[in-house]
Amino acid sequence: MLYRIPRGVNDILPDQIAAWQQAEANFQKLCRLYNYEEVRTPIFEQTELFVRAVGEDTDIVAKEMYTFEDRSARSLTLRPEGTAPVVRAYLENSLQGQDPDRLVKLYYIAPIFRYDRPQAGRYRQHHQAGAEAIGSPEPEVDAEIIQLSLDFFASLGLKEVTLLLNSVGCPQCRPTYIKALKRHIEPHLDEMCSDCQRRYDANPLRLLDCKNQTCRQILEQAPSMLDMLCEECAVHFDTLKQTLDLLDIAYNIDPHIVRGLDYYTKTAFEFVAPGLGTQDSIGGGGRYDGLIEECGGPPTPAVGVGIGLERTLIAQEAAGVAQPEPAREGVFVVTIGAPAWPEGLKLLAQLRAAGLPAEIDYRRRSVRAQLRYADGEGCRWAAILGEDEIRSQTVTLRNMVSGEQDSIRQSELIDRLSAEL
Ligand SMILES: [Zn+2]
Ligand SMILES: [Zn+2]
Repeated sequence: MLYRIPRGVNDILPDQIAAWQQAEANFQKLCRLYNYEEVRTPIFEQTELFVRAVGEDTDIVAKEMYTFEDRSARSLTLRPEGTAPVVRAYLENSLQGQDPDRLVKLYYIAPIFRYDRPQAGRYRQHHQAGAEAIGSPEPEVDAEIIQLSLDFFASLGLKEVTLLLNSVGCPQCRPTYIKALKRHIEPHLDEMCSDCQRRYDANPLRLLDCKNQTCRQILEQAPSMLDMLCEECAVHFDTLKQTLDLLDIAYNIDPHIVRGLDYYTKTAFEFVAPGLGTQDSIGGGGRYDGLIEECGGPPTPAVGVGIGLERTLIAQEAAGVAQPEPAREGVFVVTIGAPAWPEGLKLLAQLRAAGLPAEIDYRRRSVRAQLRYADGEGCRWAAILGEDEIRSQTVTLRNMVSGEQDSIRQSELIDRLSAEL
């Protein structure tokens, strides 16, 4: 019987890997450019960390976590988002060091696990590239995180990415807003979807990002958080907008952007791209000034972003960005006859030791079959070794694209190929 992959997850196969490697390499390169250092945390953490950080009443914690007990009956959870583990590692390893003013800038590329309804680009194991700047309340750092993200999208040829910007306030101003929001909703609560009816008490801010048509209509007239920000939050938001203007970064103010996690304060943002249908977000983030304290650390302001790599790649494909054809490279060692075989194996090892990609036909088929194989593997050169070549210490070098071939000394082969490849 054949085993099948579990529902909701996928394989990333060799013919898709070029796009992945490009995305990962671009993100790493940009993070270095912006002075973010990589951090790698385990794929599971104590369940309590996520319950505490993300919030008990969020969809993630209430419905989407992969939680299990290990053999010592500890409750563990596969990482459902990237920020809480980074904050945990930051605190546990005292990454702040001795300088309380230092901005600790970290990035990660990691699998994320959510028991979500499977849909385009929403796998139960998907991948996020994220960056976190810990230790600064300044709105210019929010702008930096946004700029880094946009540079990443641009590096993949995504030109139509829209930045949606909002402020979700702070513990000072948010309660007043929530009261006003609930006052607006209450008369219509019966007409709203069951999720919203639950959120009304549990997590009213999340009413704002309901995708249900009726709910959306009711919420259209709802008061906006942006009208009720306290002085500090309003100044922060204004400065952020000015900074984005200064950097020529376009944005749309969208008071419905609240993100699904409790820890956001002030700035919340999302990136949307065409080609993904109604679920068009390819990433988002915001400020989380209260999270580090919530996780047991000193009050420490911070801001971050998480980018969904699957969805970004779908957007890239939808945008018609052509993946570069893998260039022909490497050398195929063709051997003719038994005496050439050990010489061929030695040459194969020498080529690889010199940093030249190389392959051989271990099944030692006919020359014609070997050349066909070399072509199928996308090799640029064939290095042919037969009786004559061994006797004269030469090799017949065939250009697999043009079909031209000439005889060169074995001792000169590596220099010649290194110069060409
Ligand atoms: Zn505020
Ligand atoms: Zn709803």
